[in-house]
Amino acid sequence: MDHFTLRDGELHAEDVPLAEIAAAVGTPVYVYSRATLERHARVFKAALAGLPRAHVAFAVKANPNLAVLKVMAREGLGADVVSGGELARALAAGIPASDVVFSGVGKTGAELVQGLECNLGQFNIESEEEGLELAALAAARGQRAACALRVNPDVDARTHAKISTGKAENKFGVPLDRAAAIYARLAALPGLEMRGLAVHIGSQLSELEPFEIAFAKLGALIAELRAGGQSVTHADLGGGLGVPYKAGDVFPTPEAYGAMVARATRGWDCTLMFEPGRVICGNAGVLLTRVIRVKRGGNGLPFVVVDAAMNDLARPAMYGAWHDFDAVAPTGMRMRANVVGPICETGDTFAMDREIDALEAGDLAVFRSAGAYGATMASSYNSRGFVAEVMVDGPRFAVVAERILPATITAAERVPDWLD
Ligand SMILES: *Cc1c(COP(=O)(O)O)cnc(C)c1O
Repeated sequence: MDHFTLRDGELHAEDVPLAEIAAAVGTPVYVYSRATLERHARVFKAALAGLPRAHVAFAVKANPNLAVLKVMAREGLGADVVSGGELARALAAGIPASDVVFSGVGKTGAELVQGLECNLGQFNIESEEEGLELAALAAARGQRAACALRVNPDVDARTHAKISTGKAENKFGVPLDRAAAIYARLAALPGLEMRGLAVHIGSQLSELEPFEIAFAKLGALIAELRAGGQSVTHADLGGGLGVPYKAGDVFPTPEAYGAMVARATRGWDCTLMFEPGRVICGNAGVLLTRVIRVKRGGNGLPFVVVDAAMNDLARPAMYGAWHDFDAVAPTGMRMRANVVGPICETGDTFAMDREIDALEAGDLAVFRSAGAYGATMASSYNSRGFVAEVMVDGPRFAVVAERILPATITAAERVPDWLD
C-alpha cells in the first residue's frame, strides 16, 4: 500500500499533485512519501511483535537520504550500514550508534576504527581475517567490539544473480562448515565480544522458503556453538524481503514473514535482529520524469524518450528490472511503446514493447516503486547531474536532496598544467 494515487484524474503524492513538484523542482526527480515510509516501518515492526526480543535496523544502502533516515530514526529503527559514509549518515540522522550494525565484506581499517570510535552496536564480521584485524584495532584502543559472525549458508535465494548473496560462490560471510572453528578462535581474542551469528541471503526474495532453509541452518549452528561452550545471544537474520514491482504481483507479507521467523526461531533464546531495506522504502518513492519526445521506432513501436535515464535509475539496466510506468495525467488512451532514456547506450531502456498510458512530448510520467536502490545508485554518466529528491508530507513537500548540476561535478576536476 502506498500514498501515490490518482485524484481528479491527476497523480498525487499524498496531498500534493506531482505536477506541482515538477514545476517547482524540475525533472527528473525522486518523490518520497513520508506517510508511506512510516507505514511500512510500522507494519514491519508490528509483524515481529510476537517475537520475544527483536531489533530492526534499516538497510541504509536501500535509501540513504538523510530525511528518509530521519523518518526511520523517528520510528525507532536502527541502521544497517556497509561503509563509513553510511555510518556517518546514520549518526547524522540521529540514529543512536548503539543501534547501528556494520556489515560489509570489505570494511577498511579506517572504517573499523570509525566504528570503534562511535562505539557502534554490532560489527557483522564477514571473514576470519576481518575479525583478527578488528580484534587488534579494538584491543589497541582498550575496547571490546560486539560482533556477530556472518555465515554463508549456501542457500539459493531464487532472486537475480547480482543480488543473491547466500550461495557458496558468493563473496559474503564464512562457509557454514568452518564457522564454528572461526567463531571459537575469534571469541578467544580480548578485543572481541563474539555474541552471535548473522545471515543475509539476498535481496528481492519473492518466497519465504529460502529464508526458512537458511534460518534452519543458522539454528543448527547456534546449537553447535552452544554445545561447544560458546555464548550466542544474538542472531541477525538480515533483510531481503521483496516487494511487488508490477501491479497485481503478490508477495509474502511482512506478517507472513514474521510468522515464518517465529516458527523457524522457536527456542533460540536470542535477540533477533533484522535488516530490511527494500520492503520499507521500495514502494515509498517514484521517479517523476517528463517525456522529451516520442520518436517513431524501427520495430513498429514508438520510442517514448523520457528525461530520466539509467544514471538516475539503474535497476532496469543493471538487473533487467521492471518498474510500472504511468502517466501523471492519464487520458484513458493507451499505446504500445518502448520507454527509453536519453543516454547513449542501448542499456538505457526502461521498457520494450509495453502497453502504457498514451503520452506525448511534454507529458509527465512516473516510474513506480523507485524508493529503494534508486537515487542511491545514481551516477553522472553522460555528464548528467545527480537527480534531485523530494519528500512529501501531507499537503507539503521539501527538496531533501538538491540536484547536483554537471557544472558542480566539473568544478571538482583539474587539468594539470603539464597538459597546457
Ligand atoms: C542489502 C542488504 C540488506 C537489505 O536488503 P533488502 O533486500 O533491501 O532488504 C540487509 N543486509 C545486508 C547485509 C545487505 O547487504
